[in-house]
Amino acid sequence: MIERTAFYIGGAWVSPKDATRVEVIDPSTEEPFAVISLGGQADTDAAVAAARAAQPGWAATSKAERMDLLTRILQLYKARAEDLAKAMSREMGAPIDLARTAQVGAGAWHIKGFLHALEMFEFDRPLGSHAPDDRILMDPVGVVAMITPWNWPMNQITLKVIPALATGCTMVLKPSEIAPLSAMVFAEILHEAGVPPGVFNLVNGDGPGVGTQLSGHPDIDMVSFTGSTRAGIAISKTAADTLKRVHLELGGKGANLVFADADDKAVKRGVLHCFQNTGQSCNAPTRMLVERSVYDAAVETARAVAEKMEVGPSDKEGRHIGPVVSAAQFDKVQALIQTGIDEGARLIAGGPGRPEGFNRGYFVRPTVFADVKNDMTIAREEIFGPVLSIIPFDTEDEAVAIANDTEYGLTNYVQSADGARRNRLARRLRSGIVEMNGASRAAGSPFGGVKRSGNGREGGIWGLEEFCEVKAVSGWHAEEPCQHHGHGACD
Ligand code: NAD
Repeated sequence: MIERTAFYIGGAWVSPKDATRVEVIDPSTEEPFAVISLGGQADTDAAVAAARAAQPGWAATSKAERMDLLTRILQLYKARAEDLAKAMSREMGAPIDLARTAQVGAGAWHIKGFLHALEMFEFDRPLGSHAPDDRILMDPVGVVAMITPWNWPMNQITLKVIPALATGCTMVLKPSEIAPLSAMVFAEILHEAGVPPGVFNLVNGDGPGVGTQLSGHPDIDMVSFTGSTRAGIAISKTAADTLKRVHLELGGKGANLVFADADDKAVKRGVLHCFQNTGQSCNAPTRMLVERSVYDAAVETARAVAEKMEVGPSDKEGRHIGPVVSAAQFDKVQALIQTGIDEGARLIAGGPGRPEGFNRGYFVRPTVFADVKNDMTIAREEIFGPVLSIIPFDTEDEAVAIANDTEYGLTNYVQSADGARRNRLARRLRSGIVEMNGASRAAGSPFGGVKRSGNGREGGIWGLEEFCEVKAVSGWHAEEPCQHHGHGACD
């Protein structure tokens, strides 16, 4: 049993003041394998006070110092890749190969992206050539609370911690209580890289406890949250009393528009993408919209891909999918599969219950429904399991109407050989992101949603701006070297 009950506050691992102990469960075996603490108000207050005390000093460092730090973090992150992969695989059930590649890789990719963005980022800018006495200073927001989920732990943590460090913010991270161990390895990396005491702090806890305490804390300037829309709404309400800035990266119900002229791998690619990470991704293309003339063939391909999809424990090597993260998630996904059947969708692969050969572990059968109507529950709710809904359409207008008929707006996908159509659709789809023909976004691309998928953007220049306050200065003395962020030359 791993014992990791301390919190990282003020540059050291400290015993909790006000905590309860809770077990971390391995979703492949349903067995506890670690014990952590869930903090209370005294722990939250101690972490916030440490971050507040460190804020002026950290804001006064130069961009060059912060770039050096990020470079060291990247080196150490790579050196600890195997520890991070093992922690994530065990705590949230990602197959070890997925943890080593996509899960760990996402974090490294973001750190590199932010290094590049930081190099270009101007903390001190002219307003314009028409106003030589006006200046725009990008100040750090201050002390940031970060509340993260369990599905892509290093992806989400680096998307918040790295830009906050880069812009001169200090922070308190509350990782998911379901997947807290990789976050603690990350805290060790930051410590070894030389993040000064108090700049980064970690307190474990749950939503009603530390999550709520941070969201309402009078000494927190901003909350950056990734997780469910339900929790995002709760956090916004709690944060309203102190009018702190709230950044939200929430759920999704992405549509994947497959036209008759799509390439012959498009359907297979879409099914595999939907099932990646056992369907536990906010940007999963969970509604596949298929043009009627190729609909039957697409349904057959999706059935074949789902039936071939292997399911296995997280410590098994290879390209299978793992369990879903928890008993609650297992029950939710099973109930939604049953609802799909009850509401009349045509089950063509998978279905309720565990896959053959499993009698424990939170394993779900890779499931595909055809003839789904967009008003069915499985087409509206974020399932967060390996469940794909296929919906036919006749015209481009109808496809757009179905795709946009959702309360979410994170990512949509288009598969078509017609470039003019792709560009038209990129404009018409209501989401923060549109990915087409399997093209992946380049480093520095902003990630975030519209409607109930949240607000704000993470990644690249936009991700740095999220952690800045824009200060307008008039009467600027142009001859004076910039003193902003504690150094002589403007950056
Ligand atoms: P959640 O939103 O409840 O938890 C995410 C984080 O928020 C955790 O750290 C949790 O402790 C914290 N939290 C929960 N309630 C809070 C509150 N009231 N105030 C402050 N912090 C709070 O997510 P979950 O229960 O782990 O998963 C439930 C559903 O959320 C999933 O089925 C999925 O639909 C969705 N989800 C989405 C994402 C995403 O990336 N968009 C990630 C995880 C889960």
